[in-house]
Amino acid sequence: MNEDFPKNDVEFDCRFRTEQACLDYLFQLRWPEGFRCSRCGHLHYWTSSRGLFLCQQCRHQQSVTAGTIFHGTRKPLILWFKALWWFSTRKASVNATALQELLGLGSYQTAWCWLQKLRTCTVFPGRSKLSGTVEVDEFYLGGVHSGQRGRGAGHKCKVAVAVERQGRKLGRLRLQVIEQCSGEELIAFSKANISTGSHITTDGWFAYRGLQCEGYSHKAVVQSKAENKESVLQGVHLVTSLFKRVILGTFHGRLDSKYLQRYLDEYVFRFNRRTTKSIGKRFWRIMQQAVTSTPIPKDRLIQEFGGAK
Ligand SMILES: [Zn+2]
Repeated sequence: MNEDFPKNDVEFDCRFRTEQACLDYLFQLRWPEGFRCSRCGHLHYWTSSRGLFLCQQCRHQQSVTAGTIFHGTRKPLILWFKALWWFSTRKASVNATALQELLGLGSYQTAWCWLQKLRTCTVFPGRSKLSGTVEVDEFYLGGVHSGQRGRGAGHKCKVAVAVERQGRKLGRLRLQVIEQCSGEELIAFSKANISTGSHITTDGWFAYRGLQCEGYSHKAVVQSKAENKESVLQGVHLVTSLFKRVILGTFHGRLDSKYLQRYLDEYVFRFNRRTTKSIGKRFWRIMQQAVTSTPIPKDRLIQEFGGAK
């Protein structure tokens, strides 16, 4: 597929000034080879307003937004595009209050729902697993820290973290909510996110012992009293503290655990593209996902919103 995206704010503003420009862009993404009727496969169509395409053979009517995150929206697409542009190109996350102000949306709830939808577009199916040298650990959000390294009970949210180490630099990242810091969950997390044959470094937590049996070379760094944990697993600890800072900065620490995975996904998306030179390319990737991912039904989002307050 041709990589077609605005390169900066000025290009974006010039290009997506009208609904038609947005519809044309969605058309390109959905039917890069040209329109094809989803029912009969016919290639010719008539158009009507608001992105509706009528098959000239079987009269089946299709919308360019059906099955996308824009499905059923009553808001102009130019607002959605602007939201997606801000979401994907800014260095830091944007929260619902900021998005509401930015777009002049009537309600906080709308902004909140839009952000939830956009976050679901940050995970790409079939993305390649981490490889090489990878650090794995867990961290906690909320709750009271107690017990050895906080692995005991009493924590609101547990998150597994894996990050590639390339010498002193950090590579790609994965974050996932876990129920327990058990071997079962931590090994499953590693298998889902790290290629076999990789070199995994962890601390001495017993749950990681099974990694060797799963085709990884595993190094458990048991910290001596002289050195703290931060000095032996620098990569994951750096990422963890950066993430916590974002949570405090953007969401003022108010983060509902039910939606934590979506925030983690968004953070991973930003982190893994921190060195991408073209901001427009991030927009393009999210937009590609926006037209192909299964949209969260509006009712469910409103229900979730009720639960988030
Ligand atoms: Zn047809």
